[in-house]
This record gives sequence, structure tokens and C-alpha cells, in this order.
Amino acid sequence: MRTVYVNGNYVPEDEATVSIFDRGFLFGDAIYEVTSVLDGKLIDFPGHTARLHRSLDALGMSFPMSDEDLLAVHRELVSRNAVTEGLVYLQISRGAADRDFLFPAKDVPPTVVLFTQEKTLVENALAKRGQKVVTADDLRWRRCDIKTVQLLWASLVKNEAKARGADDVWMVLDGLVTEGSSNNAYIVQGDGTIVTRSISSDILAGITRTAVLKCAEELGVSVEERAFTVAEAQAAAEAFSTSATGFVNPVIEIDGVAIGDGKPGPVAQRLREIYIETSRAAAI
Ligand code: PMP
Repeated sequence: MRTVYVNGNYVPEDEATVSIFDRGFLFGDAIYEVTSVLDGKLIDFPGHTARLHRSLDALGMSFPMSDEDLLAVHRELVSRNAVTEGLVYLQISRGAADRDFLFPAKDVPPTVVLFTQEKTLVENALAKRGQKVVTADDLRWRRCDIKTVQLLWASLVKNEAKARGADDVWMVLDGLVTEGSSNNAYIVQGDGTIVTRSISSDILAGITRTAVLKCAEELGVSVEERAFTVAEAQAAAEAFSTSATGFVNPVIEIDGVAIGDGKPGPVAQRLREIYIETSRAAAI
């Protein structure tokens, strides 16, 4: 049985409780982060912490723990649960109070929950095979830059995708791809240029996105940050997605149309290798 962290305590998972009045539960008034674990170490912890603070600030949420405290809890959970490969999930809600659209008084403490999940990340079967994606309207709330737990639309369309025999969804807003259900979306043009939507409130600024674009730059691959249509993606040489747990994950089909030769492309595969190598070396 896992040991999880709830509001300052390490407890067995079946003893962990959160109030039914928690605003995360009642209003989706909570934010989260997912940090990958490789070889028992954390991948890009500073990046995830920085984004956590941006989410907290955007929602005016208070959070009393320092980054050092947070790192110590992450490490303690990885160690207690002997996780070598997987993830640490962190969620902070505005706390528990009588149900009211108005925020509770400032002295209500946030609810802080962390738990680990073991997951095969490097030897990912989907990354070897390549993902089939289908597209769906992006009907999420329009502050996708804040990493809130309001994930219902992404969850609904991902389930529809699965029912249609696909692996994931790319969402489309005003005719242009925004991102995947839980990842950023990319295409590779015939000349090798990587195209991905620029950072705005329409997408989450992926921590893996930043790291992978840096890898691309170091490889001398040019990157264009702009939106693209589904038709442009279907005609691209390659496509892929990035996320903390998926790393770089090739896309081989979009709405039934094969991308390139219908196999994971060389740019995506190379970036995946380099990203894993770099992340491994920098993990803490
Ligand atoms: N977009 C969305 C909507 C996501 O949920 C995620 C994963 N949390 C990402 C992009 C990728 O972000 P990261 O690389 O930080 O995991």
C-alpha cells in the first residue's frame, strides 16, 4: 500500500482523507503539478515549481510551503514508496469552507495532497508504436494556461477518442490546433522545422515543451511558434506530443490520415532520446 501526503502528514493511502467541503471537490478550485520520476529522481522539479507558483498567483491562492519543503516531500514520497519510474502528483486547493462562490477567509489553510504513481516512462509501448489521434472542438474554459484540476472536457474527449479506437485527442479552436488532452502538440515540416503553438492562455505552457524546444535548438533544428490547422498537420512530415510523463511521443495518424509514412518519425524519435538523456543527467 502506498504512503501519501495530506496536509503535513504521511499516511497509508486508505487512511488519507479530505473534507467534503474542500473547494477542489466542490468548485474545481485547485491546481496541480505532475513531476516525473526516473531512476528514483525528479525530472525538472524547478520548472514544475515555477509553474505551480504561476498557477497559485493567477488564482490568488496562498500556499505556505517553501520550494525546499516541497522538494523534501516529493523525495520522501519517492523514497517511502520505492518509486524508480513514475510520477509524483501534487494538488493544492483553496481549502475547505462552507459552500460559497465567494472565497473563504484568508486564514483557511489550503489542502495539500501528494501521491506517487508507478509508471513505465522510458519503455513506453505507445511511443514505439506511435499515437493515433482524433480531433475535437476545444470547449475548455479559456484559461488553459493555469494548471487547474478542471479537466472534464479533456477527459470526456479522451474517452470518446478511445471509444473510436484512437489513443488521444488534439483539440481545435477557431480552426487551429491548441494542444492534446494532456500534452502539447507539434508538427514537423518537410524541411525539418518544428511547428508548435505559441504560449498564450489557449494552452498550458508545458515544462517538457520548454525542455524539448531547448533540445531542438541545441540540435540546430529550427522552431516556429505558431498555430497550425488539422489539414496542415495531416500533410506534415511528422507529428508528436510532449508531456512530463509521455516525454516526446510520436503521432502517426490524425483523424484517420497517416502522417508521413505512418511510422514514428526520425525528428520525434531523436528528440525523445535526447530529452530522456538530458533529463536523466539533470534529475535531482
Ligand atoms: N497541456 C495540457 C493540457 C496538459 O495537461 C499537459 C500535462 N499536464 C501539458 C500540456 C504538458 O505539460 P508538461 O510538459 O508540463 O507535462
